[in-house]
Amino acid sequence: MTTFLVADAQLRVVGLTPTAQRRAVLALLVGRSRPLTAQQVHAELTSTVRHIGLTTVYRALHSLADAGLLHTFDLDGQRAYRHCGTAPHQHLICTGCETVTECPPEVVTSWLTELHQHTGFTPHPDRLDLRGICATCANT
Ligand SMILES: [Zn+2]
Ligand SMILES: [Zn+2]
Repeated sequence: MTTFLVADAQLRVVGLTPTAQRRAVLALLVGRSRPLTAQQVHAELTSTVRHIGLTTVYRALHSLADAGLLHTFDLDGQRAYRHCGTAPHQHLICTGCETVTECPPEVVTSWLTELHQHTGFTPHPDRLDLRGICATCANT
């Protein structure tokens, strides 16, 4: 399937009208491991696909994130967007290359239980971002 078909199908699943702008923005982010800022999305779209206003890109990103199709990240103080899988996951964020790896929640379940036992702190199970160095960066 092309990224456009993936984008189209996902927009319909969450009940968003598949406008040309939303499809273009979502299709650009499908399959990327790094989150992109609105400016980066805008720059890539205008250089390759179409002329699209920055405000339109912002609006499309907001509606896609609100619908749960994109997860948001803080990239050097800027909001960045990533197309994530639909299965529940935690985020492993590499501070070297900015790659985000999706980690199945059960991998960290016992650690979270231990954390709670030691501190009484209960992390939100739906969103946990761990910053560190990915395997690729650690090996270079
Ligand atoms: Zn995610
Ligand atoms: Zn890395």
